[in-house]
Amino acid sequence: MTSSQDELPASKDCPMSKRRSLPSSHTLSWLLGLLLLLGSLSAQAIELEQIRAGFPEATRLSEVEGEHPARAVHAGDALLGYVFETDDIAPIPAYSGKPINMLVGIDLEGRLTQATILGHEEPIMLVGIPEQRLIDYADAHIPHHVSERLRVGENLDAISGATVTVIVLTETIMRSARRVAAEQGLIDDPLATPPARVRQEVFEPADWETLVGDGTIRRLHLTHGQVNEAFAGTPAEAYASSAAPESAFIDLYLTYLNAPSAGRNLLGDVVYDQLMERLDEGEHAIGVMARGDYSFKGSGYVRGGIFDRIEAGQGNTAITFHDSDHRRIVRLGIEGAPALTERDIFIIREEAQFDPGEPWELGLLVRRATGALDTEFVRFNAHYSIPEAYVERFEPPVEEALWVQVWRDRTFQIVILGLGLTVLTAIMLFQDVLARHPRILEPLRIGFLVYTVTFIGWYSLAQLSVVNILTFVHSLMGNFSWESFLIDPMMFILWSFVAVTLLLWGRGVFCGWLCPFGAMQDLINKAARRLRVPQFEVPFALHERLWAIKYIVLLGLFAVSLHSLGQAERYAEVEPFKTAVTMRFQREWAFLLYALGLLAVSAFTHKAYCRYLCPLGAGLAIPARLRLFDWLKRHRGSCGTPCQICANECEVAAIHPDGRINANECHYCLDCQVTYHDDRRCPPMVKRRKRFEKATRASSKAGGVDIFPADAAQGSGAKLQRIPTLQEE
Ligand code: SF4
Ligand code: SF4
Repeated sequence: MTSSQDELPASKDCPMSKRRSLPSSHTLSWLLGLLLLLGSLSAQAIELEQIRAGFPEATRLSEVEGEHPARAVHAGDALLGYVFETDDIAPIPAYSGKPINMLVGIDLEGRLTQATILGHEEPIMLVGIPEQRLIDYADAHIPHHVSERLRVGENLDAISGATVTVIVLTETIMRSARRVAAEQGLIDDPLATPPARVRQEVFEPADWETLVGDGTIRRLHLTHGQVNEAFAGTPAEAYASSAAPESAFIDLYLTYLNAPSAGRNLLGDVVYDQLMERLDEGEHAIGVMARGDYSFKGSGYVRGGIFDRIEAGQGNTAITFHDSDHRRIVRLGIEGAPALTERDIFIIREEAQFDPGEPWELGLLVRRATGALDTEFVRFNAHYSIPEAYVERFEPPVEEALWVQVWRDRTFQIVILGLGLTVLTAIMLFQDVLARHPRILEPLRIGFLVYTVTFIGWYSLAQLSVVNILTFVHSLMGNFSWESFLIDPMMFILWSFVAVTLLLWGRGVFCGWLCPFGAMQDLINKAARRLRVPQFEVPFALHERLWAIKYIVLLGLFAVSLHSLGQAERYAEVEPFKTAVTMRFQREWAFLLYALGLLAVSAFTHKAYCRYLCPLGAGLAIPARLRLFDWLKRHRGSCGTPCQICANECEVAAIHPDGRINANECHYCLDCQVTYHDDRRCPPMVKRRKRFEKATRASSKAGGVDIFPADAAQGSGAKLQRIPTLQEE
């Protein structure tokens, strides 16, 4: 004020010089204040703009108290609901390993008014599936109640190819909304510990002394001297009682009557039973008894209907008693009780949410008049904790991990996948037996490939991808969380199975049997061969060099992923899996053309994509070098030198001209093993069969006696020994 008055003459005398002069500190602070005000207004405007979708009539936001950061939404003075960001409350890792951040609004009835996506890093959304589908999916939660059980596929439509993402999104919205709604009192807290149960079966006959001794009855003994001391330093100090300081001001006892050991012993069976009958669900009775110069009831309740000298409390809840909550105890039915002048029962009503297992206290208010209208209060608390034997306590409900819910929901898929993997394990373990019986193996293999395409691929959308490898490596380098991998049970089980089979037999078990796109190529090529479509094979020298391409693609993707995982995921479109499997060919024409083109090529050159391009196959081949077993058999001295039957028949040309199998390229189709055992096609086996037949003929000429020597059956001259694979050498 003085400052502006001081400046006024200067501006009149020399307005220009005043304008040119630096602003005074007052002006600066005024400008700063204005800027801050404008800043806060614009920030609030942005926030209000963000919530228009959920609260069109909102005029302002305010902070709310609580553990979970949320903002209250108002229209003028009226409270409309609450808004919050889910990252602050329930950041659940999604498919990318990072949470999906949402702006969620709830009204005062606990209904969702808004679910706006603020940010996410879901790879499936970065490619292929339009963002709008996820936005529409989030909107579908409105106006469901926060307590509803929303399930993808039941009351919410799933997004094909983004199952994990939408499951996490729903859980993120509902879990955070429930937490805010519970904290703001819109719903009962689903995670609150249930109140302890009074054990009605626990009763021990006891006298007064025993109950005081074991804590069933608690005591508050106050002398006049203690009360005078409590008023010391207040205006009421001068009005101290003239009674002897050590004489009893009040000798008060309190107990929790619902517990039979307290109620039955004090009141007797009849009164206790009547009292319990009168109590409604959630109501509790406490007994307050006293003697001395001070009455805990006073006479105020007669006029006002409220007991103004006592107040119970538990936690932050204060419990006052009305005359309707009060009963007198006519006579105590317990031995050894002192001569108590006041004996009363007070009922705690259900609204207080009283928990008998938690400590509580009875506040005794002592009032002392200091003038005609003035009074001073002091409060003394009698604390009560129920003896442990009288109650049964419950564990607080635990929020079930999301992946557990998902696994339970997918029981059917998990069982069918488990059966499929069991069959495949049996095929691998008994591959020798099956290779001798191609009539069983061939339909079994075709049936399994159909299962892989339809059930694993199109139905369960469980096509493994190089993106999984990149995400896994990145999560190992960052914040690894099992939950983000467990969230998709099919993928988790498949990857676990593949990890084991990689160590046992190499990549071929996955590539030859479990890859849906690989199985599609396989089936197409089988059909093409039946239709006598001409087949083209790349000369082995070139073929061998082209193998390197897929490793280069893999390394390229990994290098890009070090810079940006999102970008690497885009480039991982070199895999046609999303188009052909995850999105079941419902995609833009460019992607369709690519996937269908690769499938068409496979009709002429079996699994051309797998041989030269697939980064997943390359990624699996690297750890597969640690494999433990090499069960694919070869005839030393025959396979490759000179026989080339298997090498020519191998669908992926994984057999070198010298007869060795390249386990990095083998798809474990077992075709070469069928040939290996075929004594009509495999030269050493043909030789062996002929020798056997000759020996049989000789034996029949010798009079029907079996003279065929044991070592002849082993074909000693045929050298039926296993030859090492390329890797072994
Ligand atoms: S190489 Fe690739 S596409 Fe082929 S079967 Fe293996 S993972 Fe599938
Ligand atoms: S034919 Fe033999 S080497 Fe070739 S993919 Fe099948 S199992 Fe492997």
